[in-house]
Amino acid sequence: MALNLIFLGPPGAGKGTVAQAVMDKYSLVQLSTGDLIRAEVASGSELGKKLGVIINSGQLVGDDLMAQMLEKDLAKKVSQKTFKGIILDGFPRTLPQADMLESILKKLKQKLTAVIYIESSKESVVYRLSSRWSCSKCKKVYNTITMPPKNAGVCDDDGAKLTQRDDDKPETIGKRYDTFIEKTSPLINYYEKKGLLHRYDGNVPPGPSIAAAEKIIAGIVKKN
Ligand code: AMP
Repeated sequence: MALNLIFLGPPGAGKGTVAQAVMDKYSLVQLSTGDLIRAEVASGSELGKKLGVIINSGQLVGDDLMAQMLEKDLAKKVSQKTFKGIILDGFPRTLPQADMLESILKKLKQKLTAVIYIESSKESVVYRLSSRWSCSKCKKVYNTITMPPKNAGVCDDDGAKLTQRDDDKPETIGKRYDTFIEKTSPLINYYEKKGLLHRYDGNVPPGPSIAAAEKIIAGIVKKN
């Protein structure tokens, strides 16, 4: 049985960082809908231009389009012979998306194993995101305060330049947090009722956050 996890939490809670840290141990693949969107924006396509405007305003992309993009990528990943499970980072973000995910997983003969909710306050995500930088080539994420690169401004792994996301500007960060509270936070109750939710306090540095997530995942694996 594959280990299919959702990482839930506001932007900047550490979903991507924790996913990068735990995926290898369980041979999981990470699927970030934010990364899918940013790839489309970078391609310079007409769709990418429209998506760029939406993400820089801190709003959400439409549910139908988002589910289509997710399904295409998820189907590709599930069909790999080596597939052992997935970490969904940034999807679902609305109740309709949660329903859509259920049917997509069914179609792909997969089941959702658990949801991990990384609780984070507005203050801590604004503080974190304004110091988040990522590699322009391999996308590895750094934080100039809590997880700085060895050499300022360049990636430890490939030496490429680090850049800051356009939507990590203070005014957009606040809006993205508010969007999380309004549109995404109802999912906490939704998955709690289904008995799938695990939560921990993510208002801590990356090391303890990763350790807390690892402990929860180990418990989930033991149970399944
Ligand atoms: P992220 O990298 O997950 O913070 O996503 C960056 C931006 O992409 C978000 O602020 C949204 O505008 C958009 N986005 C990512 N995932 C979704 C989703 N599941 N539904 C709608 N919009 C999304």
